[in-house]
Amino acid sequence: MEDPNRVPWVLGTHLHPDVGPIGRAPEGSRVLLIEAHDFARRKPYHHDKLTLVFSGMRHFRDDLRERGYDVEYIKADTFGDGLERYFEAHPDDELVQMRSPSHRSADTFERLVTAAGGRLDVVQNELFVGTREAFDEWSNDTDKDPFRHETFYRWMRRETGVLMTDDGDPVGGEWNYDDENQEFPPEEWESPPVHRPEHDDLTERTSEWVSEEFDVWGVEGTLVWPVTRAQAKAKLTHFVENRLPEFGPYQDAMRSDDWAMAHALLGSSINIGLLHPWEVVRTIEDAYHEHEDIPLNSVEGVLRQLIGWREFMRHVYRHSMPTLDEANQLDAPHDLPEFYWDGATNMECLRQTVGDVRERGYSHHIQRLMVLANFATLWGVEPKQLNEWFHATYVDAYHWVTTPNVVEMGQYGEGVFASKPYVSSANYIDKMSDYCGDCHYYKTKDTGERACPFNALYWDFLDRNEDQLRSNHRMGLMYSHVDSKQDGDEMEEIKARVEDLRRKNEFGEL
Ligand SMILES: Cc1cc2nc3c(=O)[nH]c(=O)nc-3n(C[C@H](O)[C@H](O)[C@H](O)COP(=O)(O)OP(=O)(O)OC[C@H]3O[C@@H](n4cnc5c(N)ncnc54)[C@H](O)[C@@H]3O)c2cc1C
Ligand code: SF4
Repeated sequence: MEDPNRVPWVLGTHLHPDVGPIGRAPEGSRVLLIEAHDFARRKPYHHDKLTLVFSGMRHFRDDLRERGYDVEYIKADTFGDGLERYFEAHPDDELVQMRSPSHRSADTFERLVTAAGGRLDVVQNELFVGTREAFDEWSNDTDKDPFRHETFYRWMRRETGVLMTDDGDPVGGEWNYDDENQEFPPEEWESPPVHRPEHDDLTERTSEWVSEEFDVWGVEGTLVWPVTRAQAKAKLTHFVENRLPEFGPYQDAMRSDDWAMAHALLGSSINIGLLHPWEVVRTIEDAYHEHEDIPLNSVEGVLRQLIGWREFMRHVYRHSMPTLDEANQLDAPHDLPEFYWDGATNMECLRQTVGDVRERGYSHHIQRLMVLANFATLWGVEPKQLNEWFHATYVDAYHWVTTPNVVEMGQYGEGVFASKPYVSSANYIDKMSDYCGDCHYYKTKDTGERACPFNALYWDFLDRNEDQLRSNHRMGLMYSHVDSKQDGDEMEEIKARVEDLRRKNEFGEL
């Protein structure tokens, strides 16, 4: 029989009723949730992110109560205050909490509980597909590099059996269909409809309260993100039925005024536990087997993100913290330009992308990587500053997932798994988007008034980081172009253009 004094403490990012200690607690059990408001004052979070988390917690509370649980829902300034109040009322309880993926969070929570005179048992986080132990055992045993994504992904495919034949081969014969996922859609292509949950009074009231209570960032508009498990499940079904077939080919494309393309839009739900990643994987794979019109490159493309990248990033974070948080191997010294906050720039790609983030706390992966992080890397922004920005502004952002994505993948901060920086000039952005056609800047010019800033910054980046990057065999071709620019006067002109761009930025004219 369960011990009634062993009480699940459910964090705001673990809102799944069937997973972990809450999933095993019989109806009628006491459950603790603490809404800690000071936490939300630490950064200028996006309005929708705070609304999503607080409304998600409040709905979760109400759902549990309806199912007969005895929910202690404490609103407090800090977790410490909330815990003191809890243990005054229930001095004999031991709290049991699923481990948060954030670095040293278990230590922090244990300290707070002890200070409040209570006991805490931190148990395994069951909201991932794999476990810490399985990864650590495999990574110790394997003779391959476990921090290479493709190696990890194939191991996960074999371990889970996802998209594998009975003979142990990948379905379709290939592990990875990425080369079929880099098309730009024809002009007449209409992206599939977006699922918009209908929000109730509780969410409306929470949204208003968030605006009054916190110094939030972003536009307070219509919340497109689910706050309940039922809404999240509906969004998943809608994705599979309407968007999944087209997810694959246009995964890397960016279009003006098309913020969602055919992306899953499920990150915010998965990251707060409204959906378990495994149920998302199963639903997608089952749909593939049941419906002939869902192409394999779409299915493999999205499953690679879920059992590959998402799980991989969790382990990268665990194994490279705390250094990854501060990592800056290229010694990038600059502050994040102000237009990341207000969107006031003439660069169309950045103006549109920042506009998307302000509106909904979201932009899709390639905007994150090849517009926002690319520009910051070329500009020489200190990675920690960009990480802070992502953490505050995106609805799906938590330290464990932004840090490897932003500092490592986006800005080549440490070299844990990135073998070279993901940087490009206007060339790539023009190939994969329609932004450049409407831009104030000329995509083909490197220097001179109205030359695209990405171009001069790109060559300047390679030139100023030559000592670290030239010997990288993956950069050989780039450095042959750098050589020719260094041989003539071109690099001098590029440097002058970069100085000019930095001056423009100071006056908010970039
Ligand atoms: C600079 C940068 C910052 C990022 N910040 C975040 C972040 O704060 N939170 C976050 O969850 N993801 C982040 N990502 C990863 C990825 O861009 C988002 O998960 C994805 O864009 C979410 O949108 P979606 O749900 O429409 O996902 P889709 O592109 O449709 O992908 C499906 C799902 O796969 C998972 N996924 C895909 N790529 C990754 C990845 N690299 N890391 C972790 N999960 C992944 C997500 O759960 C996502 O919902 C970042 C990537 C970069 C390059
Ligand atoms: S021209 Fe340059 S700044 Fe303008 S949209 Fe293209 S890449 Fe962005």
